[in-house]
Amino acid sequence: MSLNEFQRNQLIENREEAQTRLLRWFEQQARDLPWRHQRTPYRVWVAEVMLQQTQAETVVGYYERFLARFPSVEVLARSSLEDVLKAWEGLGYYSRARALHRAALQVIEDHKGELPSDPAALQSLPGIGPYTAGAIASIAFGIVVPAIDGNARRVMARILALPDPKQQELEEALRLWISETAPGAFNEALMELGATLCPPRSPRCLLCPWQAFCQARNQGEQETYPAPRQRKPIPHYDVAAAVIVARRCSQDSAQMLVAQRPTDAMLGGLWEFPGGKREEGESLPQALKRELQEEMGIEIHVGQLLIVIQHAYTHFRITLHAFICELESGEPRCLECQDFQWASQKEVDALPMAVTDRKIAQAIEGWLES
Ligand code: SF4
Repeated sequence: MSLNEFQRNQLIENREEAQTRLLRWFEQQARDLPWRHQRTPYRVWVAEVMLQQTQAETVVGYYERFLARFPSVEVLARSSLEDVLKAWEGLGYYSRARALHRAALQVIEDHKGELPSDPAALQSLPGIGPYTAGAIASIAFGIVVPAIDGNARRVMARILALPDPKQQELEEALRLWISETAPGAFNEALMELGATLCPPRSPRCLLCPWQAFCQARNQGEQETYPAPRQRKPIPHYDVAAAVIVARRCSQDSAQMLVAQRPTDAMLGGLWEFPGGKREEGESLPQALKRELQEEMGIEIHVGQLLIVIQHAYTHFRITLHAFICELESGEPRCLECQDFQWASQKEVDALPMAVTDRKIAQAIEGWLES
């Protein structure tokens, strides 16, 4: 799928004007974001990975803390995955952190510690797809290559009035428009335009540097492009988790059983209160007893409900029910987990956990105090 002759001619005709307007607008209006201060390859890389599926405002604090903790690719590669996951805690999509850590090791081993500039070589690293490779190559190394994220896709779909823009069409259009002297600034500016002036709803066209070239605006049909993707219904699951507390002489000495999820599973490497999904026909206590038997080979008594947490992941939603439980028989073993430990509250605080399990840990604190 490629552009038609009319579209190509329009792009060529407006190229210089489009570049000048966009770059000028970006110079004047760009948000002050920490990854724009120093554009070293490592810093650009960390920012681009964090910005995948996460808004800039959320990333800011994480980015600064992460770079203070892991200031270079060498430090990142030398650190444990658990430390990296801890620094990532709360940012979500933990596969990004695992891939970043694996990629750092690969950069040390295969590229003498230097991130490659070639987009194809960048894409051979874990967690770097065409968009991230384009962003790093253009912003950090000045390579003339497009970087097409969701924002760039939406803006270009509107500029060209494409209801269902294909990657090939977008790349062709952007290869015609991208600035050869400032490709990184051009890519950043385009994404900034999409994020600030041209969101999915209510674009602010009067402020847009590209309003004169925008076919969607000319038609008065901005929100029609690109056509919304058909979303599948999001399934919902009930999940139960066991809080098994042992040796409760005092609040400080209380220890609780936590398990580490297998590295290759969803939320891999993170620690959790063991449990799992309720199956059809099961009560929550029955599901919890079965899960603990399967996962750790122990029998438990399920006691009072501690907390109920609603959480939405990308492809499903859960209601998580955490129960106070007692160990009845058996010694915990890792049958379906990677590791386990009896941990004090302080030790639990130091472990990397998903946001749901962190909420359980906070609820335990209140329960132990009561
Ligand atoms: S003119 Fe409006 S719809 Fe077109 S790119 Fe600009 S903000 Fe988006």
